[in-house]
Amino acid sequence: MKKLIILGSTGSIGTQALDIVRANPDKYTVTALAAGSNAALLEAQAREFKPVVVALFDEKAADDLKIKLADTDIKVLSGADGVCALATSEGDMVLNAIVGIAGLRPTLAAIEAGKTIALANKETLVTGGEIVNRKLKEKGVKLLPVDSEHSAIFQSLQGAPCGSLKKIILTASGGPFFGKTRNELQNVTVKEALNHPNWSMGAKITIDSATLMNKGLEVIEAVHLFGVPASRIEVTVHRQSILHSAVELSDGAVIAQLGTPDMKLPIQYALTYPERDMCFESLDLFKVGMLTFERPDMDTFRLLPLCIEAINRGGLYPTAINGANEESVKLFLEGKIKFLQIAELNEKAMNMCENKSDFTVEDIFAADAAARAVVRESI
Ligand code: NAD
Ligand code: MG
Repeated sequence: MKKLIILGSTGSIGTQALDIVRANPDKYTVTALAAGSNAALLEAQAREFKPVVVALFDEKAADDLKIKLADTDIKVLSGADGVCALATSEGDMVLNAIVGIAGLRPTLAAIEAGKTIALANKETLVTGGEIVNRKLKEKGVKLLPVDSEHSAIFQSLQGAPCGSLKKIILTASGGPFFGKTRNELQNVTVKEALNHPNWSMGAKITIDSATLMNKGLEVIEAVHLFGVPASRIEVTVHRQSILHSAVELSDGAVIAQLGTPDMKLPIQYALTYPERDMCFESLDLFKVGMLTFERPDMDTFRLLPLCIEAINRGGLYPTAINGANEESVKLFLEGKIKFLQIAELNEKAMNMCENKSDFTVEDIFAADAAARAVVRESI
């Protein structure tokens, strides 16, 4: 029995992880569940999976949850500190499926407590990659990628000799606006941007897929996970989302992982690694028919090259563009800015970043706050 701590349990990844647990009651128990503010869903999850402890980031929602769960023995924590404390509570593995930089401190707390990490929260590595890697080494802790592309790269590298990785081929679906010109993107609506062709995901990552910011964040994530510079990561638009990414090894062999576009496989692989488990849906290549690969349009989708610039500059630049993006995506979803302004505001905030090469977690949060302020004050 593996004891799981799930952070972000009410979201897209979190609920799919619980689907896996539900399908395998003999393999997993859930010891802790945390989320942002959805008390009703967390109550239902707590009653079904009977964890020892739950937490909500939102204090008021946590008070509400305490009342709802008063007839149970389940402990209810609240706030950012509560979520971090829960990440270190009893359990073998922490699945971090929180959205945004809010996931960084819980990841660090869990590593500190010696827990194996299954990481969906890419913002953890985008902002704190250096510190996380240092801590993983120090504590001898394993971190397994859940992001589908990074899971595919990780799977493709199983058995590859150390030092044989030449190049990463990172695939992108292209999102709902692939092939569109800047002019055509002027007035796209929130509804159009949320209409992803292949994946059903949380709102923030869906907008990031439409701007290609998601692929930029994933380049940074791959740099930290696999220790290669961005210059050795090639982004290719693959509209079918069947080939989830590939690696080229020193002898020119290209190894890829293919499958239906379903996050359950990469979530499950992180939970069972190095073992393999049940199949949710077989890939029918005849149904797919054709796999295509195209270059991304870096002039129209500026956030991809800007993220590459951020990681090449290093230091706090990735944190700045990430923080600006969290703020501008929120404003776009609220209808307060236009689609193309997301990239403009992110670029402005990144360029105003006061960089430090040797930085602490506090510096990361200060850079995040400064970038968010630039965005808010620019509209
Ligand atoms: P989501 O918006 O559906 O869910 C986010 C979860 O985080 C919710 O449970 C929410 O309550 C919780 N949360 C938000 N703020 C919190 C806080 N301060 N403290 C504690 N919990 C908080 O998002 P998602 O689509 O599931 O994505 C989660 C993460 O996984 C993101 O980093 C995303 O980039 C990554 N990811 C998602 C997918 C996908 O298919 N959805 C694929 C790859 C990577
Ligand atoms: Mg991905």
